[in-house]
Amino acid sequence: MVKPFVPQLVYVEPKALEYPLGKKLIEKFEGMGIEIRQTTSHNQIRNLPGDNHFQKYRTAKSTLVVGLRKTLKFDTSKPSAEYAIPFATGCMGHCHYCYLQTTMGSKPYIRTYVNVEEIFEAAEEYMKERAPEPTRFEASCTSDIVGIDHLTHTLKRAIEYFGKSEYGQLRFVTKFAHVDHLLDAKHNGKTRFRFSVNDEYIIKYFEPGTSRLNERIEAAVKIAEAGYPLGFIVAPIYLHEGWQEGYKEMFEKLEAALPSNAKKDLTFELIQHRFTKPAKRVIQENYPMTKLELDESKRKWKWGRYGIGKYVYTNEEQEDIKDTLGSYIHTYFPEAKIEYFT
Ligand code: SF4
Repeated sequence: MVKPFVPQLVYVEPKALEYPLGKKLIEKFEGMGIEIRQTTSHNQIRNLPGDNHFQKYRTAKSTLVVGLRKTLKFDTSKPSAEYAIPFATGCMGHCHYCYLQTTMGSKPYIRTYVNVEEIFEAAEEYMKERAPEPTRFEASCTSDIVGIDHLTHTLKRAIEYFGKSEYGQLRFVTKFAHVDHLLDAKHNGKTRFRFSVNDEYIIKYFEPGTSRLNERIEAAVKIAEAGYPLGFIVAPIYLHEGWQEGYKEMFEKLEAALPSNAKKDLTFELIQHRFTKPAKRVIQENYPMTKLELDESKRKWKWGRYGIGKYVYTNEEQEDIKDTLGSYIHTYFPEAKIEYFT
């Protein structure tokens, strides 16, 4: 079982101490005896402990920077929401295919932003622009926000903030099961709580440092019982020997565990595994022993965002995935909605 995250090393930006959350976090970490270093800005962080890239990467993934979010312009977040809302960046998990490895480059440490009120104010402006249309905010574009929230409770505040808002909706996804502090949040049905799930083989070999499938399912049951709208992102869908059976078992377990009220308003998002050439290089550097299949010749090349081509499954394989997983979902969750396959 993966324990709730505790940083090994903490950096603090001086301005963060002017915010109640910054102060509280630093007091907490001092009380826990964790080493705390000052930094004028996260960009100045150098010399993380470790003799080589491999060690430094692992140290960074257990380092937390307590700082401010300076850019309050939100990115768009298609297809699941209108905007990405930035509460944190980075993750302590070690999923071999994690997109953060390329997006965060040489700065894989975790950052939490303590100017939460300013982030809410920015969100308010985005909602006003679109009102009376609802505006959906995705809180997990740059981190696994649930994975650090037992320390910060920022997500809990956000859930309650959007719970009170007229036009706002919040969504996020997690591979962590540490949700107990979120169960009594006044969400008013405005937050869709999604879990990222995969079959046992994939979680075992490619998702070290995250909660196991049974833990995620137990957490999903608690979330459903707390009345949150629930969803699952099956991602990345990865073809390996026995994948049909692996995914079948996963859906069977979900079906057996979830309370019936949750099955009525349930969403599934399906995302196939893909990689880019730069991502392949980084994955092989950070996880040199990975069993992950990254053979371009077995894939179909597809134009990606920013002009970087990505390698996806062939058309036939994609059809097979859609048919197989689609039929499991229709069988086990006839009332659920498949939001997209990509
Ligand atoms: S849990 Fe999500 S964000 Fe964290 S390493 Fe895994 S894929 Fe990346």
